[in-house]
Parts: sequence; C-alpha cells; structure tokens
Amino acid sequence: MRKNIVAGNWKMNLDYEQGLSLFSEIVNMVKDEVVGNQEVVVCSPAIHLSSLAKLSTAKVAVGAQNIHQAASGAYTGEISASQVKSVGASYVILGHSERRAYFGETDALLAEKVDAALAHGLKPIFCIGETKEERESGEFFAVIKTQLEQGLFHLSADAFQAVVLAYEPVWAIGTGLTATPAQAQDVHAFIRQTLVEKYGQEIAENTTILYGGSCNPSNANELFSQTDIDGGLIGGASLKSRDFLEIVKVFNSK
Ligand code: 13P
Repeated sequence: MRKNIVAGNWKMNLDYEQGLSLFSEIVNMVKDEVVGNQEVVVCSPAIHLSSLAKLSTAKVAVGAQNIHQAASGAYTGEISASQVKSVGASYVILGHSERRAYFGETDALLAEKVDAALAHGLKPIFCIGETKEERESGEFFAVIKTQLEQGLFHLSADAFQAVVLAYEPVWAIGTGLTATPAQAQDVHAFIRQTLVEKYGQEIAENTTILYGGSCNPSNANELFSQTDIDGGLIGGASLKSRDFLEIVKVFNSK
C-alpha cells in the first residue's frame, strides 16, 4: 500500500529562528493528526536542516531542496547528498521547476542527482510538470513522459521504489491557479500508467504521487480525494502552521 505524504517546501523563506519555531509548531500540532499510512515532510533551506532533523519524529521527517551530483570536492557553495544525510534528513526535492528554470537544471543533470541521492540513502521527491505553453499546446503528456524517462527511467525497479513523484504544473506554482481535481487526476493517472509500462503494476501501485501548485486548505480535500493523488507538495501554505495542519488533516477523512 502506498504512503500518503504531505510535504512542505519552504523554498528560500524563513530565517533560522523562524524556521525552528515553525517546525516545532508543526511537530506539536501534527502529533495527533497523522493517520495510518501517512507521513509529513518539511523541506527546509540547508541552514535549518541539522536543527530540524534533531526535532523530527517518526511522523515528521526532514528533507533538503537540492543537492549537488558529485560525492564531494571543489564545488564552492554546494552541498552533497552525504552531507544532507549526515545531519539526519531523509528526503531531497529534485527537479523542482524553479531549479529547472532559474538554475538550468536539465533532465540529464537531474538523473545524476537522483543517483547521488539514492547512493546515500536519501529519498528523492522528483518534480515533473508542464509550463503554461505546454499545457495550452496540448503537448503536456509528452513533456511529462520525457521528464520521467530522462530523469528516472535509468533506475532499476529496485532503486526506483525509493522515489516519490510530485506533479507540479508550472502554471499553478505560486499563482493561485490550481489544476482542477480532474486535470490533476488525468495527469496522475497518466504518470501511473507510464510507470506500469516501465516497472510493472505492483511498483506503479506502490509509488506515491503528490500534487503541487497553489494547494491550500480549501482545495486539498477535493484534490486528495482523486484516486491517483497521494498527497501534496505545498509551497506558500506550508509557511503557515495552521494552513499546513489543515492540509495534513485532510487524510483523517480519507
Ligand atoms: P505553491 O504551493 O506556493 O504554489 O508552491 C508549490 C510548489 O512549488 C511546491 O514545491
């Protein structure tokens, strides 16, 4: 049975003390709200990671937002998978559209980062999704398939099982525009079918596929009740403990 995950992506927000205080609040509030097969993940800026990991629990894990693909070396300003792992983080977001668009991250580079993460026991939250133009031209299924093929499909079936996917339509990120539940479900079903073809029914059924893009307490319920949507990757609403908790609680009624 696949896991439901609500993951927060803090992006480049919150100074050190603010991050610590928000995370402590989340851990406290989430204690009694996380049900059965659910996990909460907070992906913070790198400066918070080690302190948050010390406060993390079996229900609330910590993740990074990026790693470098090399194991170590002369890469000023970068952080490796083993360094992230060494402070107690267990996830890393890879392929976020902001990294693809502003930092030139290609599918080929992301495939290397996925390997680095897995080699050091970090679970990738791998983001895929189309731009507004790709949505409007109707080529979005092809775009998403290519992102899967080039970023992930070099993995063996065994290795792939550590991967969490996040469908984040670029046009819905930080814009207040959300994919309709039907639009999101269509793409999630397409992703799962693509996984069936590559890795078989069982692995596809066990893969967690999150939705991201202007997810908030008012739309989470309808989005998460779609068959193939197994949780969310939350940006803006993860910076407010109450909103984040409301989204986490949606799984109590599922
Ligand atoms: P928003 O929830 O702010 O739209 O951001 C989504 C996102 O990019 C999560 O990774």
